[in-house]
Amino acid sequence: MNIILMGPPGAGKGTQARHLVDTRGMVQLSTGDMLREAKDSGTEMGRVVADVMARGALVTDEIVIGLIREKLETVQGNGFIFDGFPRTLAQADALGDLLAATGQGLDAVIEMEVDDEALVSRITARSTCGNCGEVYNDITKPQPEDGKCSNCGASDFKRRADDNEDSLRTRLMEYYKKTSPLIGYYYAKGLLEKVDGLGEIAQVQAAISKVLDKSSI
Ligand code: AMP
Repeated sequence: MNIILMGPPGAGKGTQARHLVDTRGMVQLSTGDMLREAKDSGTEMGRVVADVMARGALVTDEIVIGLIREKLETVQGNGFIFDGFPRTLAQADALGDLLAATGQGLDAVIEMEVDDEALVSRITARSTCGNCGEVYNDITKPQPEDGKCSNCGASDFKRRADDNEDSLRTRLMEYYKKTSPLIGYYYAKGLLEKVDGLGEIAQVQAAISKVLDKSSI
């Protein structure tokens, strides 16, 4: 089963995707993670995208479609979770074509609904474990006092360069202008499912599980 997790920055897509990887053996394909990896390893493409990402703007369709194409050709697993992709109509069309070329399709597009105020406070307080990706929040889930990740024990906490109010404003505008039209696009295909992204992590997990169980029947 292949699904898309959609929602504005800070909606909790990454957290929910990791849970699906752990519990269902699905494969998370996050274009944001792929681009950050390219940036950190200093590749030519990483250099090209660094400034765009720091501003919170979207990287070109060509680059991200290329990254997804490569993964679909090389990675196998118990279904894909597209996290942060597609973000434009052109990317959505390309994804449909790439999946169709291997006889696959999409089973559900899950829109995680959250309000803007919650996003600002989630994002500006966010840090993650650089080793396992566990997400922390300065107010609701502070980093452990012993300085070790509660999930994997590593001591390598990171804050994203684009998790600041200026970049977040641009990221939100990009989402509303270029990505939110995909809600209608997938609704028209009968694939859209909405879940409330504001609840406790476990409640959101349960709501997503319900959608997946229904879609796999
Ligand atoms: P994310 O980790 O999904 O929040 O993505 C971080 C940043 O990477 C975004 O703000 C964009 O600059 C870039 N990015 C990630 N995925 C895409 C995409 N599908 N299309 C264009 N830019 C993307």
